[in-house]
Amino acid sequence: MGIHSSLTQSVHYLNSVGEKRAKAFSDIGIETIYDLLYYFPTRYLDRSTLIDSNKVFQYINNGYDGEVTIIGKVTAKDHVRYHKKQFFKVSFVDNEGTFDCVWFQGVKYFKNRFNPGEFYAISAKPSITKYGSLQFSHPDFDRIEEEESEEFKNTGKIIPFYRIPKELKSGKLGDIGMRNILRNAVEEYSQYLTETMPEKVVKEHNLMPIWEAVRNLHLPESHEKLKLARNRFKFEELFYIECLVALKKEIRSNKISGHQFKIKGNLVSNFYKSLPFQLTEAQLKVLSEIKVDMALPKPMNRLVQGDVGSGKTIVALIAMLIAIENGYQCAIMAPTEILASQHFKNITNMLKETGVRTELLLGGPKSKAKKKSLEEIGEGNVDIVIGTHAVLEDTVSFKNLGLAVIDEQHRFGVLQRSKLINKNISPDVLVMTATPIPRTLSMTVYGDLDLSLIDMLPANRKPIQTALRGENKLPDIYKFITDKIAEGYQSYIVYPLVEESEKLDLKAAEEQFAELKETYFKNYKVGLLHGRMKWQEKEDAMLRFAAKEFDILISTTVIEVGIDIPDANIILINDAHRFGLSQLHQLRGRVGRSDKKAYCILVTKEQFATKSNTMNFDFEYLSRAEIERHKSAIRLNSMVKTSSGFDLSEIDLKLRGPGNIFGTEQSGLPALMYSNLTEDQNILVDAKQAAFSLVEADPSMKLPDNKILKEILMRHYRENIILSQIG
Ligand code: ADP
Ligand code: MG
Repeated sequence: MGIHSSLTQSVHYLNSVGEKRAKAFSDIGIETIYDLLYYFPTRYLDRSTLIDSNKVFQYINNGYDGEVTIIGKVTAKDHVRYHKKQFFKVSFVDNEGTFDCVWFQGVKYFKNRFNPGEFYAISAKPSITKYGSLQFSHPDFDRIEEEESEEFKNTGKIIPFYRIPKELKSGKLGDIGMRNILRNAVEEYSQYLTETMPEKVVKEHNLMPIWEAVRNLHLPESHEKLKLARNRFKFEELFYIECLVALKKEIRSNKISGHQFKIKGNLVSNFYKSLPFQLTEAQLKVLSEIKVDMALPKPMNRLVQGDVGSGKTIVALIAMLIAIENGYQCAIMAPTEILASQHFKNITNMLKETGVRTELLLGGPKSKAKKKSLEEIGEGNVDIVIGTHAVLEDTVSFKNLGLAVIDEQHRFGVLQRSKLINKNISPDVLVMTATPIPRTLSMTVYGDLDLSLIDMLPANRKPIQTALRGENKLPDIYKFITDKIAEGYQSYIVYPLVEESEKLDLKAAEEQFAELKETYFKNYKVGLLHGRMKWQEKEDAMLRFAAKEFDILISTTVIEVGIDIPDANIILINDAHRFGLSQLHQLRGRVGRSDKKAYCILVTKEQFATKSNTMNFDFEYLSRAEIERHKSAIRLNSMVKTSSGFDLSEIDLKLRGPGNIFGTEQSGLPALMYSNLTEDQNILVDAKQAAFSLVEADPSMKLPDNKILKEILMRHYRENIILSQIG
């Protein structure tokens, strides 16, 4: 197998690629003909959007205001200057009339292009000048050959465009030259390509064979074939990723041994009895899933996803009690010191009758006390270690870690999770997150974890009322906050803290604190909390707020994660347009934790706040550019409309757009080149099914048909395999 020898020749064997161009290709990583065949067009000129100049007038008169593509021949170019302004104008002619393109910037650059007689495809939004002529300003343009333009118009041939790196441009290679080089290469050499996926998979999923797919990406025979070719590459890429995921899962569950816990009962059932409430059905269901995992000899790798306030901590705590009853230690890790110390207090408090020993472990210098704690942990005198990332540090060694719980997973890199798992034989791992994992991510980045959902909130919760207001409404909001104090309400007032302007933001929070204390909140008790405070100071502020020593807590986003104070039922978020959607949802989750009605007030100085009620966003009808433009309006309106963390996460994914999917970078999975997880869900589902059934049937890839797969995994994905095996 491997690559056919004629493909491993240097590109300079191709017609029209001499030494010099070969060198330029080599500068961008293309050495061989094989490499070149995989240098695919970035876009295509598509006849379906092509129209003649006279049609453009009709379009405009009928109210169309989108882009059009038009092909014309250059008749003249002109550097126009009048008064202090200047612009560059190129005149074109097509079969039906004339039109102009104008540029107000970059005149110098355009001067050397557009020579009379050359053909260009122009794409832009057209306009009609006051003299009645057709004009495009700052259009996209592609040079094409006259014969290509004829062919294109008559046969519907699809013209490919390649990114031409500057190394090649300086060798005088333009669009046309590049297309010729690739056409030659494809016509002569694509026949030598060998299939890169198991035959069975190609057949079962009706995929276009590799040589035909490569050919059709460069020289599409039709739209249908182009689509099939693209889909083949998308499938292939996702298939290999899913093979990695399947292998990782396979190794975790069948090759690494874990602890087999007995579900005994005393400690756990006594704990149930001590709870002041009943667990929800959803909590019970997830617990039973966890118990099944814990009773098996293979290590648990489970992700518990439940919206903010759904009661994940209790579930984790019960799992820990099971491990402790079996004589093991447990660890629970939170992303911030505040949250870790809150967990420590709550857990210690809930377990005070049980004899279970807890210990808090935070980062920072190694004090005498800390050294002592580490010793106790090492000797097995601590049952539950509660901490931050510090628990992952190498200095912490457990006597017998049986279960590790990672709270608010989205804050942890996936590799950190691996680090922990590596630590001892292999503890059971329970990951908890309030950030819903969109389906595509649970199949990729988190694909090796089993998923449990806590899909209901405790019965006593009332929905949180969310409102979007302009900054001019702040005085009314302050009044609302103080009025509610009489009813026993406490409030958070949050200011953004975005890293690049951290100092400024901090100042804003401090100044607001000083000002509000003297004005609107003069007669009330106000606390301050921000990230620059020492953690004990932060904790002190939180504790005093929890003890109702403050009516109002002014804070930066340090309260974002996990903080649980039942009487705090109003949250005012300033400059809300500066927050991400999941962050807003997390912040909102700080309130609505009791049976009191809760309020989340989003404040922004952006225009849209005042007219928000009339806004309706439907992604299907928005272009990428429009989405970009209205991002913060969409985010804030979505917050008002829905309280479902899951819906918000899907919206978030769409807002981020393709190729920008959270978590993929640290996942140890390769970057996506052909597919994107927002658009190609269906292909992903197919590819996953293919990969998982293949790995299940042949985990060590010994079958002859899978030889190619093994080879490619080892050749291209070795690093990913190593990374994913750390876990
Ligand atoms: P999260 O899922 O956001 O981590 P927590 O575990 O912090 O939520 O729980 C939020 C609050 O709800 C806590 O005060 C907890 O004691 C309480 N709680 C948990 N489960 C229940 C339940 N079944 N009924 C009532 N309250 C519950
Ligand atoms: Mg929590």
